[in-house]
Amino acid sequence: MANETANPEKIRCDACPVMCYIADGKIGACDRYANHGGDLVRLDALTIIESSGQKLVPFLKDGKGPDDWDGNIVQGNRPFVTAVGAGTTYPDYKPAPFIVSQEIQGVDMVTVVTEGIFSYCGVKIKIDTDRHLGHERDVVRVNGEPIGHVMTSEYGSKMLSLGGVEHLTGGTKKEGRITCDALLKLCNQEAVEMVIGEPEHETTVVVQAGKAPIINGVEEKLMRVGCGSATIGMFATQWVGHVEDVVVVDDHITGVLSEHQAGKLLDVPATGIKINGRRSTPGRYFQVAEPGTGWGGTDIEDPLKILGDFNPKFAKDGMRLLMVSTTGEQYAYFELDETLTPQPAEIPEKLKASADLIAENCEPSVCSVLFMGGAGGSLRAGVTENPVKLTKSVKDSLTFVSCGGAEAYVWPGGGITVMVDVLDMPTGSFGYVPTPALVAPIEFTMRVSDYGTLGGHMDEIRLVQDVVSDGTRKVAQFDNQPDPMAHTNYRWSK
Ligand code: SF4
Repeated sequence: MANETANPEKIRCDACPVMCYIADGKIGACDRYANHGGDLVRLDALTIIESSGQKLVPFLKDGKGPDDWDGNIVQGNRPFVTAVGAGTTYPDYKPAPFIVSQEIQGVDMVTVVTEGIFSYCGVKIKIDTDRHLGHERDVVRVNGEPIGHVMTSEYGSKMLSLGGVEHLTGGTKKEGRITCDALLKLCNQEAVEMVIGEPEHETTVVVQAGKAPIINGVEEKLMRVGCGSATIGMFATQWVGHVEDVVVVDDHITGVLSEHQAGKLLDVPATGIKINGRRSTPGRYFQVAEPGTGWGGTDIEDPLKILGDFNPKFAKDGMRLLMVSTTGEQYAYFELDETLTPQPAEIPEKLKASADLIAENCEPSVCSVLFMGGAGGSLRAGVTENPVKLTKSVKDSLTFVSCGGAEAYVWPGGGITVMVDVLDMPTGSFGYVPTPALVAPIEFTMRVSDYGTLGGHMDEIRLVQDVVSDGTRKVAQFDNQPDPMAHTNYRWSK
């Protein structure tokens, strides 16, 4: 890190292309670096992860190393140095800020850590809800600026793709700034309010990692148990004998018990029911209504709207009908009158219990935020003078990639394009620079011997005990995360 003096009071930060001149006592444009009495300092503490949740200190006291195995299967006192708070080097032909080694069960391992500057990055968001948030390709806006779009829905969830280089740098300055700010908040597990679609069909959603979405001011509670057809299949036996027909209202596939294969196998007779929708296969209907935030992700609040006239050949006066949504939150019970018109009636206890059972089988609705970014040529150069060798080493399972200690999914194909759940990372893992781009931690861990083979900056390797100090921030390892240094992560252990 160069501390080049521009004038007696200011020093230059060279950690990103902005190259701030920072006066004594002031901070740079990204709030990450400051001038403390002429020294350029990274304001957030370097974060290390303590494996097994044991206290890290005293570290290497009494001449004992972390691998003095005490008989426990899980090793204590094994710190993993993350890139959170590590700092960035720019341009990246310089070695990464920390290249740290330690011996793990007889093997010398090294972790190269850096806070990467990602212009090519974004978040993929999964929102567990049946409610219609927007059509595929609808624009997602924050403060009026486009920051992404709706992508293909997944089973029980709506998906958004936000950020990316076109919004960060390809639009107006304001669009880039607001996109960067929204990504930063989402990645740091904060809430962001966004508007999806156009004025005639727009939805407001508040998204926060790990929390239920708030859709048009209402907090979502449940993720559907399945589509309408699946719900019929799952709960058919609950209904037989208590009601003549059941309709599970769903924007995707509305199910009808008497026509469905499940009903046929349980000898449910035809009821003459008519559904206003496109029949797919027996008992399964598409497009019964418009998408919306009502029953089962449709725009209806009155379920009878999806019914046509009953066929008098099969329907009878007094016939009982249950209509229920895919989360069991909405339900209504009807009995046919002498004109074969459904009339609302008090729902019998057994049927109410079946709606409750559907709701009980739904998982809580939650927003998931996955950071996705590509470790480009320059970032890789901070690891090795021969960047493509790092890519090959990752693909060969000789190098383990983590972000803030969390295992990163590395996409197949070229480059090192990673995806990671922000909830698996320490809080405050992300930063930004005003270029604009997101700053995200990334670590590459491998054997020291493999690091040498791929042309690593061997002279820059430091022992872990020389890096960890009282000033480092220590966080416990997440239970769902592998230890990045565990031998089982690597091909050579297999
Ligand atoms: S924006 Fe931050 S990282 Fe970039 S030069 Fe300024 S202080 Fe340094």
